[in-house]
Amino acid sequence: MIGKVLERGKTAIVLVPEISLTPQMVDRFIARFGEEKIALLHSKLSVGERYDEWKRIERNEAKIVIGARSAIFAPVKDLGIIIIDEEHDTSYKSDMTPKYNAKEIALYLAKENNIPLVLGSATPDMETYYKAEKSDGLITLKNRANNSKLPDVEIIDMKKELAIGNKSMISTRLHEMIEKNLQNKKQTILFLNRRGYSTFVMCRDCGYTATCPKCNVSLTYHIKQDRLKCHYCGYERKNFTECPECKSKNIRYFGTGTQKLEVEINKMFPNVKTIRMDIDTVTKKNSYDDILNKFKNEGIDILIRNTNGSQRTSFSKCYTSSE
Ligand SMILES: [Zn+2]
Ligand SMILES: [Zn+2]
Repeated sequence: MIGKVLERGKTAIVLVPEISLTPQMVDRFIARFGEEKIALLHSKLSVGERYDEWKRIERNEAKIVIGARSAIFAPVKDLGIIIIDEEHDTSYKSDMTPKYNAKEIALYLAKENNIPLVLGSATPDMETYYKAEKSDGLITLKNRANNSKLPDVEIIDMKKELAIGNKSMISTRLHEMIEKNLQNKKQTILFLNRRGYSTFVMCRDCGYTATCPKCNVSLTYHIKQDRLKCHYCGYERKNFTECPECKSKNIRYFGTGTQKLEVEINKMFPNVKTIRMDIDTVTKKNSYDDILNKFKNEGIDILIRNTNGSQRTSFSKCYTSSE
């Protein structure tokens, strides 16, 4: 696509997450298009280097701009295409002032210049996926890189599990698979998109729910400290056994998190070694790498991990380094 755009005398912007701006990745572009046509913009550049790249783009010498999110502002001439790789990556949203979302700016530029915007990902953002499907813009790769096989995926309806009397978080099928893994001395990784123990605590008599006074979201129960925490701003308070509104003692815990999953797994498989990895277990002394190394080297059977933005990045980072 970039080749075609260049043939027409136009230019291209390619955004990649900062972490992907590796020499190997850049070398591929250089091998295909030549160094003089490419400008690189990323945070490791000095102000001087950044200025030089900026000027090369402005003079229309560099036809392809490759960079992290801020490269979307590059002063390109006659833009022909914008490509955003790993579009689901959270780094495209700037959390520094001025706050912006490079994806939204790209969409604006694409409309303004009447050019295509390509969002690439093996694990697209739900929002992007939905929009692409709706607008007939979804292009699916039929084969994976190196023709490797797709993993088998099964979706289990937990309502049906409830109907057969299984009230736990683990479906009969998953239980079977974990057991099989244990017998075969293989490891299991369980992912859950929530941390903590219960996602909300409610009074069954008056319906009172503990919420964060600043963010107005329900507080998550953390069993170890017996405290309620806001996962948005970090606000926390003591747990309560008596409703602050109606004094009822009929307090119930709803929803689930990684802590509860760990408790359940330990109950189901009492002799199994588990380890949990989420922001609550990761400290300076116990880093992601440490936990993953333990998982690798200390005969741990089940790793329970939380799937969330920045953690995912660190996970893939240490994963590649240990590979
Ligand atoms: Zn109450
Ligand atoms: Zn809060």
